[in-house]
Amino acid sequence: MNYETIIGLEVHAELSTKTKIYCGCTSEFGGQPNTHCCPVCLGLPGSLPKINKKAVEYAVKAGLALNCSITRASRMARKNYFYPDCPKDYQITQQDFPLCANGFIEIETKNGPKKIGIERIHIEEDAGKLLHVRDGSLVDYNRAGVPLIEVVSKPDMRSPEEARLYLEKLKSILWYIGVSDCKMEEGSLRCDANISIRPEGEDKFGTKTEIKNMNSFKALEKALGYERTRQKELLDGGGTVHQDTRRWDDSKEMTFVMRSKEHAHDYRYFPEPDLVAISISDEWIKEIGQSIPELPDDKKKRFIEQYKLPEYDADILTSSKKLADFFEECVKYTDDAKSVSNIIMVEMLRLMNEKGVEIEGLKITPQHIGKLVNLVNKKTISSTAAKKVFDEMFTTGKDPDAIVKDRGLIQNSDTDFIKGIVLKVLSENQQSVADYKNGKDRALGFLVGRVMKESKGKANPAIANRILKQELSK
Ligand SMILES: [Zn+2]
Repeated sequence: MNYETIIGLEVHAELSTKTKIYCGCTSEFGGQPNTHCCPVCLGLPGSLPKINKKAVEYAVKAGLALNCSITRASRMARKNYFYPDCPKDYQITQQDFPLCANGFIEIETKNGPKKIGIERIHIEEDAGKLLHVRDGSLVDYNRAGVPLIEVVSKPDMRSPEEARLYLEKLKSILWYIGVSDCKMEEGSLRCDANISIRPEGEDKFGTKTEIKNMNSFKALEKALGYERTRQKELLDGGGTVHQDTRRWDDSKEMTFVMRSKEHAHDYRYFPEPDLVAISISDEWIKEIGQSIPELPDDKKKRFIEQYKLPEYDADILTSSKKLADFFEECVKYTDDAKSVSNIIMVEMLRLMNEKGVEIEGLKITPQHIGKLVNLVNKKTISSTAAKKVFDEMFTTGKDPDAIVKDRGLIQNSDTDFIKGIVLKVLSENQQSVADYKNGKDRALGFLVGRVMKESKGKANPAIANRILKQELSK
């Protein structure tokens, strides 16, 4: 039978506020266990929480960027659960009045753009961390009380791939607007998924399972793919899907039952009595809205229009705000945006990757990249030489003019000089000459390469090409 897959995601993102959500403790990642704690975040008797205004601001900012409506009057609730990672035995979260609701994210699918609905975004506190060792369990409350937003999607995704695209887009937006660093490896972005299948054409939802512990985009897609197949095989074999919470095991590439519905929690929510209600004015929303920078999709569209870049380039350059800003800085120094894009995408990102350098650690400056492009366009240096210059600029941060001068890379367009090299190369590569004459056009490229190498990258490639063809046709 053919089935339709229904997926919804619940994403937790830690907010990048300096302090925790209900006290003044630092929200910094790591630190010696239990050193970022105070009576409030540990829930000691007599302590009173106070809400962090910045956390509310960041949540509203996320809501606006994700096309949500903002709840003007909101309040916090206690969610009761008893587990050692929760020092108070309850979590202060939101139940009936989430700060933001009814938004959407647009993803690019194979069949064109698709809107994935967002049901709600609420703020809450993070829990502590448990570490299970041989003789028992240890607990670190440094993370307890770090502000989170939980972004709950509508069950609008129809494939594991759509779920991944949604999560990627969500991550890029939250990162762009600066409300979360979204580091999946440090747990500041975490994702749980609900998945069910139903026979194609059916309106009623099938029984869903919840999958936890997917800590990369790849793991999310794999886990959902695995779970979809598992449910399909169960139904096709005449079985039924149970409403389980399952854990994804990345090394075994399988999901396992964590708990079944019979053990489902009853959280006994009630309004948090220690915190005042949250009231959000129209002016504040407007102010927050004005602090939202251009979002990735808009930036991408603008890059295509303004700089006449192919979509592929615009996609890569706007994948991070810092990279996009860097590109725009370069374009201030040259009018050849496409060449700048090529250098950034091919040379710069490759070297950054190889050497593990981030944008903020770069020695090379946008002005130097602009200059380099102009040197090539004015035919002062060849594109072969430009690669060498770039490598040196990247390592030393030197000005390209100085490198070109020091290394004597100025392009040579002197036909006699180039002809001399061409004749030498031809006499040394008789086999390639014969190949070319036998119709193997590829041999020409090889010979041009030899000429460039022999001239130490200085020969003007267009002239070298022309003279080579002339000599070969003799
Ligand atoms: Zn504290």
